[in-house]
Formats: sequence, C-alpha cells, structure tokens
Amino acid sequence: MAQGRKGRLNYRCPACFMRDLDIDMFYDRDKDEFYCLRCQFTGKEEDVLAMNEEIRKKYKVMLKRFESLDDFERFD
Ligand SMILES: [Zn+2]
Repeated sequence: MAQGRKGRLNYRCPACFMRDLDIDMFYDRDKDEFYCLRCQFTGKEEDVLAMNEEIRKKYKVMLKRFESLDDFERFD
C-alpha cells in the first residue's frame, strides 16, 4: 500500500459519509489525491469538495418535512 499521511486538511470520505460513516481520508502527496482506507474512494481535493456539496444538498432536502405534494415542486 502506498505511503499515506494526513493532509493539511482532514476531509471525511464522502462515499462513506453517504453510508453514515464518518471516516477521515488520507492524502497521497505523490498523486495529490485523497483516499479512504475503508472504501475504494480516491479523489482530488476538488472532487471531495464537489461530492460534499452534493451530500449537503441531499441532507438539506432530507431535513425538510414534506407535508403536501406542493412541497415537492420546489425541488424539481
Ligand atoms: Zn470511504
């Protein structure tokens, strides 16, 4: 396995986080990529940030209570 160390910033693995697992990723300095020891996720910093943004959107909707069909139209 490639040598890994923590990067400047710790990012949680977005792939694991989608499964309700909070796992810190390691940083591969040679490839300039973050990778997760638990799943197969690897990605550049911008990939991680983009995925985190996606998750944020999902959670935002998840936290909303849908009370009528009209509420769904806002998320088209
Ligand atoms: Zn992971």
